[in-house]
Amino acid sequence: MIRMEKLNKFYGSFHAVKDLTLNVPRGEVFCFLGPNGAGKTTTLKMLTGLLRPSSGRAWIGGIDVVENPLEAKKRMAYIPDTPFLYDRLTATEFFTFIGTLYGLSRETIDEEFERSFSFFGLLEHRASLVKDLSHGLRQRLVYAASFLHKPDVLFIDEPLIGLDPHTIRAIKSLLREKAKAGMTIFLTTHILSLAEDVADRIGIILNGKLIALGTLDEIKSTSGTSGDLEEVFLELTENGAP
Ligand code: ATP
Repeated sequence: MIRMEKLNKFYGSFHAVKDLTLNVPRGEVFCFLGPNGAGKTTTLKMLTGLLRPSSGRAWIGGIDVVENPLEAKKRMAYIPDTPFLYDRLTATEFFTFIGTLYGLSRETIDEEFERSFSFFGLLEHRASLVKDLSHGLRQRLVYAASFLHKPDVLFIDEPLIGLDPHTIRAIKSLLREKAKAGMTIFLTTHILSLAEDVADRIGIILNGKLIALGTLDEIKSTSGTSGDLEEVFLELTENGAP
């Protein structure tokens, strides 16, 4: 469902992502890990059409993200670590606006509104202006809006930042549930316990290069460390981390 072939990104002469080749099948939760500055966000931005790769290609559901960006975007949702929201809209207006952008009917938006606002505990905040919502509530609104057009692929940069433990638990089970229903989820995180809890497979990137790929057990066994993911991660990335 997500395919990358020899993806590269240069910022000037700086080589931020190096020959990244990776496939993520339908229904997989893939966690992309790496130290600060490793190239995770750059990769996400190339996959979501926000950055043009310097070379290489990427496809979402077989659609080339550079050649056919609109079609690719219809099939995906992207939750950045600091999403942009329209402050002067109410939570309901924001949700409706996003649905309209995706060309959904009023009926579909209203139906999804009830389900989604109830799930994310947003019903009592429906009339609040986005600018008056707390960070966590804004994040919940972004989640709600991201699922609205039923994307095949969900990209999330740091999914749990600023969320309370109840919401974290709800998001984790939601991600597993969505993947079970066929959604492909590609996320980056520094919270290694999240990867342990939800990932089908993990990729570790260091200085722009993929240095480990596999299930948690596979990564543990190739690293030669018997500890948890944190220990394995620290061992694998110690030479490239600050
Ligand atoms: P973090 O965990 O800190 O968010 P990351 O793995 O997401 O890091 P990226 O944001 O992809 O890392 O950055 C990869 C490298 O590219 C870093 O060295 C960063 O400084 C550099 N970089 C990112 N964006 C730009 C840019 N617009 N211009 C120049 N260099 C950039």
